[in-house]
Amino acid sequence: MRNIVLITWDSVRADHCSCYGYRKKTTPFLDRIARKGLRFENAIVSGVPTPISMGGILTGRYFEFGQKLTTTIAEVLGYEGYKTAAFHTNPFVSRYYGFNKGFDVFRDGIYDQENKSKIKNIGFISKFKNCINAIKYVFFDIDVARVDFEKYYDEVITLTHSSDYYFIWILLIDTHFPYTPPKLNFIEKIKLLYIYNKIYKGGGIYTRIVANIDSSNKRRLIDAYDGEIRYVDSLTEQLWNDLKDTDPILIVHADHGDAFGEHGFFGHPPEHYEYLIRVPLVIYNADVKGVVKEPISLLRLAPTICELAGVKNEFPQPSLLDDVEYTPPIVENKFKEGFRITVRDEEWKLILNPDREDELYNIKRDPMEQNNLIEDERDIVKDLRALAEKHLKTRKIQTKIGDRIRALKRFGKI
Ligand SMILES: [Zn+2]
Repeated sequence: MRNIVLITWDSVRADHCSCYGYRKKTTPFLDRIARKGLRFENAIVSGVPTPISMGGILTGRYFEFGQKLTTTIAEVLGYEGYKTAAFHTNPFVSRYYGFNKGFDVFRDGIYDQENKSKIKNIGFISKFKNCINAIKYVFFDIDVARVDFEKYYDEVITLTHSSDYYFIWILLIDTHFPYTPPKLNFIEKIKLLYIYNKIYKGGGIYTRIVANIDSSNKRRLIDAYDGEIRYVDSLTEQLWNDLKDTDPILIVHADHGDAFGEHGFFGHPPEHYEYLIRVPLVIYNADVKGVVKEPISLLRLAPTICELAGVKNEFPQPSLLDDVEYTPPIVENKFKEGFRITVRDEEWKLILNPDREDELYNIKRDPMEQNNLIEDERDIVKDLRALAEKHLKTRKIQTKIGDRIRALKRFGKI
């Protein structure tokens, strides 16, 4: 058995981390552990945004928002005698949505004392009050929708030093839109607020934005985002320094990326372009080292944690440390109109859309995903489409069996 720390950086795209080739030194700590540990060059999320991706990571299965969580990695490890705990402040993966399943300790910034009403307000806030929310946030460091993770810091350190074996999941949300990195001056804050207002007026961070954000403002927005990445990297380093005497395996990853005007998007709408689905993933202090180039799905994290903990893999996917036959990761989002399903191979990427024309990109030659080759590369489309259809068939069966089990449970049959 080994202690395990899973750290999620919210909304961090791989190409903004320096160990993934970013021109700015945003992640010196991640770079260092990546050099000594195992780094995945093409770690692909199972869906966008947070609850869909994290539901997938914690349960090892594709997940739909609002669905009940199936067996979680916390349950599996708890059953084996681990103390399990989670610390985060993202309302969409709070206990309100059942994400506390299997955790002995679950601090989500929502149900603690004065924050009880916050989850009820969040929908309202995100739709109508974002501008006021942003003013409070940017100028007064008051976040009406969440509390600071730092509030839990001492509890994390105490818990990890008083448990025989622990599994903790920490999600750091500073990198989530709207970004307010430390050390901004008053003028910079005003300018950022102006940009956030434009984005909210243009439709918000989950839709295509009609507002025109000019290049200097885009640069300002990106600088603020990079400043937040630098901050979560240093917070992760501080955590590591305070935990390393308990010799844990450290896993650092992101739940999805963020957009800066590419294809007209800001934030993280349920789209499958590279800036949204390709994230950092590093495993450190686990006697594994190197760089994995081939694309892998984050759905394989729970099985990997089982292997690192030395417990039986209870999940359908193989561990990332297993030498298995390669299959390209699949990304999935479900809508009223149907599924958006993406097959993301090393060179090619097929996006099957429920709401518009399907897309095929050669991501090696066209990393910005500008030239849709869906009409030109029929053979490649055919092969990738077959994988998507195979996936969809298993999904439909899973859903039906799940419904049946739920129905039986409801009637007390099992
Ligand atoms: Zn997120």
